[in-house]
Amino acid sequence: MQKINIAIDGYSSCGKSTLARQLAEKLNYIYIDSGAMYRAITLHALQSGWLHDDGFEREKLIAALPHIDVRFARTPEQDKAVIHLNGKPVEHLIREMRVSARVSEVAAVPEVRAKLVELQRDMAREKGVVMDGRDIGTNVLPDAHLKLFMTADPMVRAERRYSELKEKGMQVSLDEVHRNLLQRDEEDSNRAVNPLRQAEDAVVIDNTNLTLEGQFQKALNLVEETTRAA
Ligand code: C5P
Repeated sequence: MQKINIAIDGYSSCGKSTLARQLAEKLNYIYIDSGAMYRAITLHALQSGWLHDDGFEREKLIAALPHIDVRFARTPEQDKAVIHLNGKPVEHLIREMRVSARVSEVAAVPEVRAKLVELQRDMAREKGVVMDGRDIGTNVLPDAHLKLFMTADPMVRAERRYSELKEKGMQVSLDEVHRNLLQRDEEDSNRAVNPLRQAEDAVVIDNTNLTLEGQFQKALNLVEETTRAA
């Protein structure tokens, strides 16, 4: 069966990564979490002291970009590829609220986007990729065969994300999570470079009232239709 590329975009905490992972597993495709890459760069800026309460030394981050290594790689313990920053696995650290709180600022820097978009396009060259993010269908992979745009009621999204973070043992409040996702939606939709937009040819999935299984079946049907037509 011919392989296609699948782009999944949408608002924060809409379940994009859950669906992308399910599809990749079922189809034996590679899953690429583009948000994890922006989060890793943000973690680097935090660890380097360039992001603080009263500002962001973006020039320092821009100058360091050629030396920041962001990639997905396997670890000896895990079978799946996980995000690495300068050779170290950082999956847990990048999900912390201190990263979520600043990632949209970092993702608005054109030089950061240029670096990551190039890496993302490289990874999708061979097809058979499911990539989720904010600008995948509009900018990273405008030729993706199937584009999905996901949305859901903000309070439902906040509750889902809150449970996920609690399960991982993180100290957060529902209100903090809710405010963070509304703020990221606002910043991601209004930035000058590659803002979050629904591609004209994207299929919208509002999963406020969909079960995980219902959503997965709907997406899988779309993939099958698209693959037949490709
Ligand atoms: O997908 P996730 O919520 O982990 O993404 C974190 C942040 O990374 C987003 O809020 C957005 O600021 C940025 N991002 C982006 N473009 C992408 C993916 C993520 O700007 N393709």
